[in-house]
Amino acid sequence: MKGRKLLMIPGPIEFEPEVLAALAAPTTSHVAPDFIEAFGEALEWMRDVFLCPDGQPLVVAGSGTLAMDLAGANLVEPGDRALVVNTGYFGDRFAALLGRYGAHVTHVRAAVGGRPALAAVEAALQAGRFKLMTVTHVDTSTGVLTDVRGLAALARQYETLCVVDGVCSVAGEALRMTEWGVDVALTASQKAISVPPGLALLMAGPRAMAAFHARKTPVANYYADWANWLPVMAAYEARKASYFGTPAVNLIWALNVSLGQIVAEGLDARFARHAALGRACQGALAALGLGQVPLQPEYAAHTMTAPRYPAGVSGADLLPRIGAAGVTLAGGLHPAIKAEYFRIGHMGPTSLNDLLATIGALEVGLAGCGYRFDVGAGVAAALRAYQG
Ligand code: PMP
Repeated sequence: MKGRKLLMIPGPIEFEPEVLAALAAPTTSHVAPDFIEAFGEALEWMRDVFLCPDGQPLVVAGSGTLAMDLAGANLVEPGDRALVVNTGYFGDRFAALLGRYGAHVTHVRAAVGGRPALAAVEAALQAGRFKLMTVTHVDTSTGVLTDVRGLAALARQYETLCVVDGVCSVAGEALRMTEWGVDVALTASQKAISVPPGLALLMAGPRAMAAFHARKTPVANYYADWANWLPVMAAYEARKASYFGTPAVNLIWALNVSLGQIVAEGLDARFARHAALGRACQGALAALGLGQVPLQPEYAAHTMTAPRYPAGVSGADLLPRIGAAGVTLAGGLHPAIKAEYFRIGHMGPTSLNDLLATIGALEVGLAGCGYRFDVGAGVAAALRAYQG
């Protein structure tokens, strides 16, 4: 860690040394008995991490956008109607992707930093028969957390599949697929799953599998077609060799290590730790007088935070100063407010120490920009808020 910056962006993140060691190990055959065991075990652990005991896990080499494709390509048939609960950039991406497979997409939107009220989503569900609804659990462009539990319940009521983009949430924010009635949740390795970028992960519940099996038209994406991957996943779980496309062997070794760590920590403990990190970061910002993109405190995610620059401070001035103080943060992403805010990731192995170092570097940067505040107030508030 010495002599390099702490990576505190909303993915990729800091990774555990054991996970990185797995990546650096000599590559095995993808049909070697020990690799088959590691992949099979990782698939089993995915059900624990997604809290979906009867789900079908899929792990395919690619980024989070491929995980979105794995959902869209296999669930949409031309002419299907899809509802996008849109809280930012990644809602727009899902809509574009679903449209590519022939869906007629309706958005329920909110102001930037807001989230659509359940009543607005219900009104949309009432107005049209939708095959599926997508929800971005944490939109990384706004730091807005959606009420997946409430939205999934509505989807059930209106017999619509609930697909959750959990790229910035799975294994960080509380997400209980089976209990909440979520049909598909998807993520990527580089966020709270805590493995370097390169794996798309998806969990499909029984209703999503039934919808896939009831398709009348072929899947328009060859690489993402579940029909190609389901036999491979089944074989590895049965501890047998199989092949469709060469798995990202070292990443899957690393995934096995990380999922083992996540399961050992326990999902409830992990959700509580992320909640504490979110509280600490947001408490620090409030103490420093910085606002946030989410319009209400309960809309703010726990895996990341989206602070607004205070008056008179620009990203071009502040972010390099924070970098010089040893911490890398991310600039804005949402096109409407890109220059007005920045982003801090605090998920996966992030510790209280990492967060305190980050708030310390933020204070150094703010002071360098001439912003006036009570030095140390952010760090003290973070410490207090972390305790609860
Ligand atoms: N959805 C969300 C919520 C994300 O944060 C991201 C990545 N930042 C993606 C989808 C796309 O993932 P990737 O960049 O790995 O393709």
